[in-house]
Amino acid sequence: MKLAALVYAGSLSPHAFEPLAGGASAYERSLGFASALPGLERLVVAEGSIAPPSGPQERFRRELWTVDGILEAMAEAGAGMDAIVLLWADQPFLDLGLAGRMLENYRRYRAEYCFADGYPLGLAAEIVAPRILPALRTLCASLPPEPARDSLFSVIQKDINSFDIETAISPLDLRDLRLTLACDTKRNTLLVERLLEAGVRDEGSALEVIPGRLDLLRTLPAFVQIQVAGGCPQSCALCPYPGVGGDILGRGDFMEKSRFVSILDQVEALSGDAVIDISLWGEPSRHPGIGDLIDEVLARPGLSLIVETSGLGWDRNLVRSLSEGLLAGRGAARLSWIVSLDAWSPELYEKLRGSGYAEATSFAEFLIGLFPRGAYVQCVRTRENEAELEAFWRGWKKKTENVIVQKYSSFAGFLPQRRVSDLSPLLRRPCWHLKRDLAVGLDGSVPLCRECVRGEIQLGNAFAEGGLEAAWAAGEAYHAAHIEAGSVPGSTYPRPCAECDEYYTYNA
Ligand code: SF4
Repeated sequence: MKLAALVYAGSLSPHAFEPLAGGASAYERSLGFASALPGLERLVVAEGSIAPPSGPQERFRRELWTVDGILEAMAEAGAGMDAIVLLWADQPFLDLGLAGRMLENYRRYRAEYCFADGYPLGLAAEIVAPRILPALRTLCASLPPEPARDSLFSVIQKDINSFDIETAISPLDLRDLRLTLACDTKRNTLLVERLLEAGVRDEGSALEVIPGRLDLLRTLPAFVQIQVAGGCPQSCALCPYPGVGGDILGRGDFMEKSRFVSILDQVEALSGDAVIDISLWGEPSRHPGIGDLIDEVLARPGLSLIVETSGLGWDRNLVRSLSEGLLAGRGAARLSWIVSLDAWSPELYEKLRGSGYAEATSFAEFLIGLFPRGAYVQCVRTRENEAELEAFWRGWKKKTENVIVQKYSSFAGFLPQRRVSDLSPLLRRPCWHLKRDLAVGLDGSVPLCRECVRGEIQLGNAFAEGGLEAAWAAGEAYHAAHIEAGSVPGSTYPRPCAECDEYYTYNA
């Protein structure tokens, strides 16, 4: 079987070129994997603005790669071949044994697409029949153009019954751990280094080591929620803030920009990249310099921003100018808006959130017009609004694809239980929020998490000595307690976690 490989290096992080555990870099290891594929006749590196170290490999170069660009490059590299293998150039654990089994199945069953499922991302490449690439290029037109590790599968999924697919299924399903074994971020590079140290080298050792070393998987914060304003225009029934925030309707306090910038600096230094959510509590539109705060986040290429809002109190000229600036190149893809509505009818909206239905829905439509990909409407699913949920879904789906139905949280029993159904998994894993999130209050305080509204556990303060790094380190013990509670009979979860069912929810 004549084989070509396209090694995608079009959007690599500098971490991909750093020595790993004193040895070869992820880039060198990925290239070594590709070079050793059985039957390889042509190896092409697709390189972007960060040029990989020079080498004998053939190279296709583009400043900016898209999914269609990758498919085009695969078609060119795979011309006259029986198969083209696609892999990312930052995956140090790519396994030749697994690739050999996949290639054999591809040949034996005359497949058109072959991928691995149930494994952590980064152990397997994908195999494609060059003859289907023209069809894939047509299908990818309606998908986001930015390349992602699952782009090829997403394209195939658009018309999955039209292709002959072979799947290599992992003997152990590790999908729920959401691992990416690649040196694409500081966070994942740390994970790779820890796993290397623990003996992971390939498929077999990964499946053997990872399930017993959940402690290694808490790396660096990925999602940081910050409170920037004390006040809120509504006192919502589904939110605990009215119960802990004092006179939230009358409060006018807010976080100084210099303090906000200090938090961003700390997040960048600690994690490299992260998603910032400026809506821990309070309404962001109440901050007098909200435009500056949004600019500060988006000026940092490693950070993305989520603005969760009631949709009330916004200066539309400010939002319009933000969108114009973003379209001019300051990262439209890194800004998301979520308008919390929770009801379809004005009557139920009034009951759950108070007045403001017309302004909130009109602002949501305004955002959808300005940010078609980045504006969302949200309904927290509860017993109170269950009867309206379908109308909410169908009604907003006529205007946008971005409709969120969010799980209700009772904040570990602080609010009445209103959930419609219990979707918690049979097996409780350590909480995602302990593993990935930091919550920072208006005064810099860092509680265990957003659900910790009674303040039982404080991890530190962003403005005290040690700052966010110390607070993140303090969370390690609680993560260890979760691992123990989930695996050692008789051990228990700390409060408030014992009464909380948010552990399986995952933030952006
Ligand atoms: S289990 Fe609940 S209370 Fe505990 S850390 Fe997770 S989200 Fe917070």
